Amino acid sequence: MLLATFALLSASSSADEKQLSVYSSVAIYRLPVLERNGHDYVGLLELLEPLGRVSSETKGQVLKLRYNAVDAEFLEGKTRARIRGQNFDFSNPVLIENSRGLVPFNSLGALLPRFLGTQVNFREGARRLFIGDVGIQISFKMEASNPPRLALSFTAPVNPTISTEPDKLRMIFKRDPVVSPGSQSISFDNKVITQASYSETNGDAELDVAANGALMASFSNDRKTIVISAPQQTPTGPQNPAAIAPFPTTSSNTLETGSNINNSRIAAHRILAVVDPAHGGDERGAALTDSLSEKDVTLGFARLLRHELENRGFAVNLLRDADTTLSADQRASTANLGHGGVYICLHAVSEGSGALVYTALIPAEEPSKGVFHAWNAAQAPVLPLSRTVSTAIVAEMQKRKFQVQTSSASLRPLNNVVMPAVSVELAPGPNGVSDLTSANYQQRAAAAIADAIVSVRDRLEVQP
Ligand SMILES: [Zn+2]
Repeated sequence: MLLATFALLSASSSADEKQLSVYSSVAIYRLPVLERNGHDYVGLLELLEPLGRVSSETKGQVLKLRYNAVDAEFLEGKTRARIRGQNFDFSNPVLIENSRGLVPFNSLGALLPRFLGTQVNFREGARRLFIGDVGIQISFKMEASNPPRLALSFTAPVNPTISTEPDKLRMIFKRDPVVSPGSQSISFDNKVITQASYSETNGDAELDVAANGALMASFSNDRKTIVISAPQQTPTGPQNPAAIAPFPTTSSNTLETGSNINNSRIAAHRILAVVDPAHGGDERGAALTDSLSEKDVTLGFARLLRHELENRGFAVNLLRDADTTLSADQRASTANLGHGGVYICLHAVSEGSGALVYTALIPAEEPSKGVFHAWNAAQAPVLPLSRTVSTAIVAEMQKRKFQVQTSSASLRPLNNVVMPAVSVELAPGPNGVSDLTSANYQQRAAAAIADAIVSVRDRLEVQP
């Protein structure tokens, strides 16, 4: 079952601008940091919207805002605001631009607890803001094998961008709330892998591993472990690139060896497919039968689709792999921040037959100017490609005797996704509703979708 709604939110901006990363249990997102009168500011609505329910109203010089049950009032050009009936003093004046409030960046550590009622850890210099206990810890284990291996263990799955230099391997964590391992630099008593150093800048955390020679990385343990090792061969020159596998299969529990990674033909050209099992947690979706919730069908279907896509050489990010509640904004933000090549949302219905493949219908409205653009039109630039993906899915499903129809609708999070995006709603086959829980039926549908994605692979963007 699909819900057609939309909302405005900030979108991420280009990498060379100042950015703030915000990490919380409900959302992980980035905001542009704007310079005004020589000081840094962030948009107040953009900061609060992913965290809760926000409404605001601007009259002349006054911005009134409600976040959940907290009322606040801000005055253009004034340093004093009212929050929960109490004064709050900023270091620099609040600005109101296009009916949107900008608040001084250096006040966020004090400001957010007033709204949220919880403490935050604001790392102002690094432009990283942690709300609640969300930090991912890192631990190191050096194995003096030949070649030596450095295992990095994380307390939650991570998704860094990995690059190599002749004697260094660099991991940049753009959306993982990775926190400092304690000291900024750790030296190893090893001739090959010598040091790991941690730094934070402009919303990113970075972990560099230094070595005498080339290094490569592989993931294991559902992306909670990164094993760094030197290639088995003789020491390599600077021209020999180390293999990188940023998105390994998540089902593997064994450590991939260096030679496997090196020989992998697909590692360098992997496209990330974002698979989104709709609904989940508190939101059960449609009641397909008295005892069958849509959220359970979409999760099982999504896992099968992940398997089919991984078998075809794609990296897959399942937006939920359990019965968890995710908002449409969280789904879109996670998909967008992961730089996926294609986004596939999965729904299920008890009526009709076969499948219905949706693409977004962008509402006709003027995109707002400046750094904020219409969140609900984020899909617009890639919509033609989304339709290509949709057409390919229809063709592959028809080959497998599914009745398929296409439609477009103003859907969240489809409208908010910046990559080619489709939503597939699985309906019963010849056996009625029992097909929806049939592994065989789901498998045929998943294989069709995966084959379709393969057929358009050349047009999808490779993970940077
Ligand atoms: Zn649904």
